[in-house]
Amino acid sequence: MTAQHRELLRLAIGEADAAAARGALPIGAVLAGADGTVLGSGRAGGEDGTEFMTHAETAAVRAAGELEDYSRTSLVTTMTPCWYCAGMVRFLGIGEVVVGDSESWSDEALEWLSDAGVVTIRLNDRSCVQMFADWASVHGGWGDLPASVDGKPKAG
Ligand SMILES: [Zn+2]
Repeated sequence: MTAQHRELLRLAIGEADAAAARGALPIGAVLAGADGTVLGSGRAGGEDGTEFMTHAETAAVRAAGELEDYSRTSLVTTMTPCWYCAGMVRFLGIGEVVVGDSESWSDEALEWLSDAGVVTIRLNDRSCVQMFADWASVHGGWGDLPASVDGKPKAG
């Protein structure tokens, strides 16, 4: 892990804390340029925590505004990305995804990105893992998500 990754993850954790304070999943993200410049940041649930299709990663990209080229950007997120956000990474051609916690949820989508040539970095950050564990202990896990963790539709 570089110092730059750690600093960007610290900002993402701040967004995750803000999401949790609004009742959303504790997930935050930052889109940064190759030199570490923060282009945008965001959190799960959006401004008031109720926007269920606003994920931390999509919020960070939206906050950055439209860019001509995403290939040298880095998406730093506290939690391993879901399929929705992984699809966005492929759609835009984001070059690098940096993940704080890649063990509390299936990282199948992260593997998919890696296989597609996206640079994927697992920081194995204990504070991110603990943040989710604390949240899950209160909320009983991920709650009622629209898809199972492996990205396949729920049976029944
Ligand atoms: Zn997502």
